[in-house]
Amino acid sequence: MVYNFDAQEKHGCFADLHTHTTASDGLLTPSQLVRQALQAGLRAIGVTDHDSTDGLKEAMVAGKQLGVQVVPGIELNTQVDDEEIHILGYYIHYDLPWLQDMLATIRHARWARAKKMVENLRRIYNFDISFEEVEQEVTEGAVGRPHIARVLVKKGIVKDIAEAFERYIGTDCPAYEPRYHLTLEEGIKTIKDVGGVPVLAHPGLLKDQKYTMLAIELGVQGIEAIHSKHTPEQCEHYKTLASNHGLIVTGGSDYHGEKGKDMPQLGDIKMPYSVIEEIKSLAQKSMP
Ligand code: AMP
Ligand code: ZN
Ligand code: FE
Ligand code: FE
Repeated sequence: MVYNFDAQEKHGCFADLHTHTTASDGLLTPSQLVRQALQAGLRAIGVTDHDSTDGLKEAMVAGKQLGVQVVPGIELNTQVDDEEIHILGYYIHYDLPWLQDMLATIRHARWARAKKMVENLRRIYNFDISFEEVEQEVTEGAVGRPHIARVLVKKGIVKDIAEAFERYIGTDCPAYEPRYHLTLEEGIKTIKDVGGVPVLAHPGLLKDQKYTMLAIELGVQGIEAIHSKHTPEQCEHYKTLASNHGLIVTGGSDYHGEKGKDMPQLGDIKMPYSVIEEIKSLAQKSMP
């Protein structure tokens, strides 16, 4: 969906708080992403790679050069029971060594898991794909299922990324392998412990809404009510839910640099810039 806050439009002051770069499974480098944000008319972006902050320094330098504000962020993929719950963290003090150690452990486990999924795809479906081909898709760090999906597309095994997830690598598919993960509680606590603001990402994609309520109980400070995969009704529903609980309403495209009609684009979600000020006011300015 495309979401515009009309009232802000005349000021041209928009933000997109959910984007990915080559530091995880995005296709654009941090500098390319920032340049594209400028072209899309955005004043600010949150850079939120999965389990990695390796793109932040480059993004912030590019942001300064081009006049696009970059909010340092991350997307932690947590899990409770069978439900995958993504927690966005903003204004994190990402240089803290213990955080980097934790992220390195998570990313290391991602490699082992990607390897297993490739083996599964070869064994179950006899697909002619290799782990080396997946490795070639990864520029910097956090390997994920989208990298595997891109190999399946390139090899003509599926017509697009959506089909890859639907038929072969979705959580309910036989080739799926679970990831080493933080629990929801650990994810939220981690963000707070590094001075950041935890936000529940795309709650509309959760299979069971009891986890939205659990995230609220466990202390998220915002809800990503506006997301490219939410329907207009879901956006309204989560906006109301957030305000009923005194939480910030955030929003983002979840842009991965992918073209194609069903892929979110930068500029699809335009949040008022004031959201960033709300988030910043909750972040800890300095760490003890
Ligand atoms: P992983 O972290 O390796 O389990 O991969 C999960 C990521 O894959 C998500 O964060 C999304 O970026 C992407 N993803 C999940 N489901 C789909 C889908 N149906 N179509 C496209 N991308 C997806
Ligand atoms: Zn992703
Ligand atoms: Fe996500
Ligand atoms: Fe994301």
